[in-house]
Amino acid sequence: MTDSILNDGAIPAVNSGSVKSLLATTPNKQHYINGGYQAPNSNAYLDTCDPATGQKIAAIANGNNVDVDTAVTAARQALSGPWSSMTPLARSGLLLKVADLIDANMDELCELEVLDQGKPYFVARWAEIPGVAAQFRYFAGQVMALEGNTINTSIDYQPEGKQVQAWTLREPVGVVAAITPWNSPLILTAMKLAPAMAAGCTIVLKPAELTSLSALRLAELISEAGVPDGVVNVVTGEGKLAGNGLVSHPGIDKIAFTGSTQTGKAIVQASQQNLARVTLELGGKSPAIVLPDADLTQAIPGIANGIFFNGGQVCVANSRVYIHRTIFDEVVDGIIAYAESLTLGHGLDQATQMGPMVSTEQAIKIEQHIQSAQKNGAKILTGGKRFGPNGTFIAPTVITNTTTDMPVHCEEVFGPVLVAEPYDDIEEALAWSNDNEYGLAASVWTQDLSLAHRLSKQLQAGTVWINTTLMFDPSLPIGGMKQSGYGRDSGKQALDNYLEWKTVCAVL
Ligand code: NAD
Repeated sequence: MTDSILNDGAIPAVNSGSVKSLLATTPNKQHYINGGYQAPNSNAYLDTCDPATGQKIAAIANGNNVDVDTAVTAARQALSGPWSSMTPLARSGLLLKVADLIDANMDELCELEVLDQGKPYFVARWAEIPGVAAQFRYFAGQVMALEGNTINTSIDYQPEGKQVQAWTLREPVGVVAAITPWNSPLILTAMKLAPAMAAGCTIVLKPAELTSLSALRLAELISEAGVPDGVVNVVTGEGKLAGNGLVSHPGIDKIAFTGSTQTGKAIVQASQQNLARVTLELGGKSPAIVLPDADLTQAIPGIANGIFFNGGQVCVANSRVYIHRTIFDEVVDGIIAYAESLTLGHGLDQATQMGPMVSTEQAIKIEQHIQSAQKNGAKILTGGKRFGPNGTFIAPTVITNTTTDMPVHCEEVFGPVLVAEPYDDIEEALAWSNDNEYGLAASVWTQDLSLAHRLSKQLQAGTVWINTTLMFDPSLPIGGMKQSGYGRDSGKQALDNYLEWKTVCAVL
């Protein structure tokens, strides 16, 4: 592992001059409400730092209930404004303009995301920010295809010369409270905003306090595209204050949440006050199963990338792998070699393949998971160390000799930590895979397609990948079973989250 930041603390900026000067000219970022920036009611700001160095890059407004109320009022007003009477074609055109503006501002958005979250530049540039534009393009198409049904009822009532007629309408659910986490800030935001806007909803977004900058910039671009004021509002700040204030506000109709299972449960409780509709994209502990006939030239880099991509800060990361005993050593040695070849460093260094964890606190939690496993008899095959100027780097780690009840084996670590264990019988690997409170994703590596089909049905996961992992597309629904949540982002299913069915029954 090499990198200048780890040796001399210097930030090897690729092209970050424009983003840095932008942040320097407006170091205190305000809320974005009703088409413009608004100072926080409390006048309080929270520092937002570069995770690699710990240096402050800006500050974000620390929102409170007054700010939330202002934003929800703006969103409610926008719901009955020109947005509500816009034709699908016009709304679709606006979503396409948003996508074009994302493309036009690609470098800036990528650099903002890298500086704020710590991810390697290539993750932002080739995987995430183009995906943001793709979400808006996909839902720009879906908005043109929205339709209800006509229904042939069996109602036995037909006044002379009249007929019973019935049909359904699709209507926006109303004001959406969108709450997002810090690991992939802008793409997870787009997965909520694009379908909500396509459905005709208005939104108040509360991004994660550690990574709010790209969402504020997106809100500006949405206004620049011509979306009416108040349709998309961003209130920044802490979960316990702005977040809780938003999900408890009586003026919201729907909560779209991505984050931890623990916060998801608190949100369900808050939603009970006004029975806001809730969809939850929560944590995961996704298994990979490697069969003895797997193509290891695919499986080894695939599984290694599946846990080390974005430093393992991916909800669907394959954080545990069950490998047939006959190929265990070969697969594990291959994954270790991959892990040890990775270049760690500042995300703005083009050579960087893995960046820091998002915060020192998060890195310490990961380190504690590793140490506790080690104390309980687990063997660290590579990695296991925390280091760097801000203590945020974790060496890519592979652990074995664990038991399924060890926290590192059954809980979400959300870092570059892979648990690898051998199995003898596929039913054993399947049972271990399903013996977990989460059910977000899984992967199967085999050339036996019949077996792959059977396992894809038997695995308790919202997504099953066969001979691949981390494949995303706006058309592919993603979400969880069990305690990984309910509802789906992406795909046609995501649009349903933001629409009500209305039944009309008439005697005409
Ligand atoms: P988190 O639950 O701590 O925070 C998520 C968001 O919720 C933040 O914006 C936070 O401010 C807000 N929040 C916190 N408490 C709140 C409250 N009481 N009321 C309202 N809002 C509140 O999660 P995190 O640490 O930011 O993100 C990591 C988690 O997100 C991991 O568990 C990961 O698996 C999950 N995640 C899931 C998916 C998915 O699609 N299933 C995708 C990405 C991340």
